[in-house]
Amino acid sequence: MPGFELFGDKERAQVNDVLDSGVLMRYGFDGKRQGHWKAKELEQALEKRMQVNHAQLVSSGTAALTVALSVAKVGAGDEVILPTFTFVASFEAVLSVGAIPILVDVDDTLTLDPAAVEKAITEKTKVIMPVHMCGSMADMAPLKALCDKHHLILLEDACQAIGGSYQGKFLGSYGDLGCFSFDYVKTITCGEGGAVITNNETYAMRADHFSDHGHDHIGKDRGAEGHPILGYNYRISELHAAVGLAQISRLDDILAIQKRNYTILKTVLEEIDGLSFRRVPEGGVENYSFLNFYLPSQTLARIAATKLSVTGVDGCFYWFDNNWHYYKKWEHLKDLKSLGPVSDQVKKGLPDYHKTDFSKSDHWVGRNISCLIKLNWSLEEVEERARKMASVIKTIVKDHSVAETKVKG
Ligand SMILES: *Cc1c(COP(=O)(O)O)cnc(C)c1O
Repeated sequence: MPGFELFGDKERAQVNDVLDSGVLMRYGFDGKRQGHWKAKELEQALEKRMQVNHAQLVSSGTAALTVALSVAKVGAGDEVILPTFTFVASFEAVLSVGAIPILVDVDDTLTLDPAAVEKAITEKTKVIMPVHMCGSMADMAPLKALCDKHHLILLEDACQAIGGSYQGKFLGSYGDLGCFSFDYVKTITCGEGGAVITNNETYAMRADHFSDHGHDHIGKDRGAEGHPILGYNYRISELHAAVGLAQISRLDDILAIQKRNYTILKTVLEEIDGLSFRRVPEGGVENYSFLNFYLPSQTLARIAATKLSVTGVDGCFYWFDNNWHYYKKWEHLKDLKSLGPVSDQVKKGLPDYHKTDFSKSDHWVGRNISCLIKLNWSLEEVEERARKMASVIKTIVKDHSVAETKVKG
């Protein structure tokens, strides 16, 4: 997710364009802005690229999730099913609308296990939220079937997966609503920003209103606007949208470089006995932002992550011990450490995550190593990296099997 790696003249030109116009806000000032509508243009570019009818830009990926839940009228006491392996923003958004985050296990796809989802469905369930972590997806077809059967909304947190696809549809466009983040570490960046995409006209109209205080954006210069609904301010600025406009023009190049670097690393690592890879569901195409693989055990994965780092192979994450991305370290959620009062519905409805059995998630995430794919590596650098990684991992796996043989012998 190399947003921070690649920007230059295109971004500068777009930003200067906004500064020259003097209008930093996406709405209003119709005369003064002299035809500069960066946010609108980026929305149109996203619609075209993602092949959807509507894109609504907002101020962050977290805002996108919050807006998506709100436009689907998800609120007080509703349950939203999401994976144990995600970013904290996914459950923050759920809590912010008064709903209850119901965490369930991930499988070898490193996102929602459809069997675990099915078990977690109750009469309060309103949304299934797969999170396409590290650029790849869950088994989306069975999740969609569950949504159809139980009349649920399929909301994709595609914040880390722009450009990936499933059964011919871009990630984010397969479900009822999809969310992207354009923060500084995502595949393309606005600095800060996000988007909701949908083919649902009603959701799209509500998102347009809700993200700007409920304004209906009818008429010129905001003079005659009505307020069909209550809203908030989740607007993106023209400066951020300008950066995004330059970035989206680079998306195909970014994806191609990621795929090249990913493929070089994977081809070398595939030779190692005892190593396996994250399962990509049939019909799925990753965006190649991370290479994810499994060591034979949790202990070995932890050792491998440390050894890779001391060997100078940076950007290989062991999410199991990470406090942003895995339920084990989410004490603030488990203990509902909210600044304000929490509704009884949430207090009573939130499962006791200190006690919930997530051994299936632990089995997969505990053995996983996730390597960030960067854009600025030269061919030689990727090849060198692949050699280093293979050598570290081979040694660890070999020492382990020698030790095991000794124990058995
Ligand atoms: C980054 C991210 C978000 C939130 O996006 P922000 O723009 O940082 O608010 C949500 N979900 C996932 C999976 C993310 O990686």
